[in-house]
Amino acid sequence: MLIDNDRDFENRIVAPEFDSGDGEAELSLRPKSIGEYIGQSAAKENLKVFIEAAKKRGEPMDHALLYGPPGLGKTTLAGVIANEMGASIRITSGPAIERPGDLAALLTQLEPNSILFIDEIHRLARTVEEVLYPAMEDFTIDIITGKGMGAAAYHLDLPHFTLIGATTRAGQIAAPLRDRFGVQLRLELYKTEELYEIIIRSAGILGIETDEGGAMEIAKRSRGTPRIANRLLRRVRDFAQVIGDGVVSKEIADVALKRLGIDALGLDAIDRRMLSAIINNYSGGPVGVETLASAIGEESVTIEDVYEPYLLQMGFLTRTPRGRCATKMAYEHLGLPLPERFTGGVQQTLFDTQE
Ligand code: ADP
Repeated sequence: MLIDNDRDFENRIVAPEFDSGDGEAELSLRPKSIGEYIGQSAAKENLKVFIEAAKKRGEPMDHALLYGPPGLGKTTLAGVIANEMGASIRITSGPAIERPGDLAALLTQLEPNSILFIDEIHRLARTVEEVLYPAMEDFTIDIITGKGMGAAAYHLDLPHFTLIGATTRAGQIAAPLRDRFGVQLRLELYKTEELYEIIIRSAGILGIETDEGGAMEIAKRSRGTPRIANRLLRRVRDFAQVIGDGVVSKEIADVALKRLGIDALGLDAIDRRMLSAIINNYSGGPVGVETLASAIGEESVTIEDVYEPYLLQMGFLTRTPRGRCATKMAYEHLGLPLPERFTGGVQQTLFDTQE
């Protein structure tokens, strides 16, 4: 039986966002070449063609937009593209570029044919975005410095570059910006076998001894997300060293993950709280995301970007025009009595299936 502690989002072990604890380890685990980059075969196959074609023409690759939930490898993939193109890369993020002048400074300092990676590109200020349009299209910028009589307008030519934008919310990107990306790739949650491969690779780099069962158990409980897989691997290693013989085995992984509040299918306290809120407070749904957010004390964007993708993929949740609904599987997983619409009138109580 799992104990749902009140772990808040900041400390959430299965949070897919970068955490300061991931630090150095995460950097050392980033694949550098397309061959090392596991999974995402559809995106990879297309990219190989675009990279090859750009190289043949001796030009930088077309601007690319990578989208999908956090922790799936967008930053890593930008680094892989740079590496495959033999180009240098500058990494920044939407909120870090506050004024048009900041972007102008970045763009004018780029090396020819290099890559500019802007994470969270949906958070760029509108005024900054407007400087980006001609930069992406014609490799020029128009900037105005000073005010009133002292104002001066400059038109500058820029070196050719590739912009790679990453976002968790493709829908929030203004159409004029989105349309300027010739390449748009959606990253998907990883399959268990792919996460297994990532864990084995990471364990090799970090010198962690794992057996097949241990790696598989972590893979199954990593919410389809490499960042979480790598983080869980390191936490399970701690348990293996303290309560075991140092080897990440299935038994140790099981004990460790249970102690961390992660159940057999990778759900943690917040996921379960969200599903039980839908079931107990809104009779299984539909419930609007805003209402749900206030019921569980989370932001609606966090629900949409972070919790929902995995719960939808696993079949615990459905999204309807009127809101979110809990599925039969969600009732079963939480061990809650099934409502009539699932049983055809017969009330049934299921026991806890989290074990
Ligand atoms: P995002 O930018 O989408 O939030 P990152 O690129 O920072 O995600 O990836 C998080 C971590 O997950 C990386 O440090 C890397 O170790 C690992 N990772 C991501 N994608 C892959 C992959 N395809 N193969 C192996 N490891 C990966």
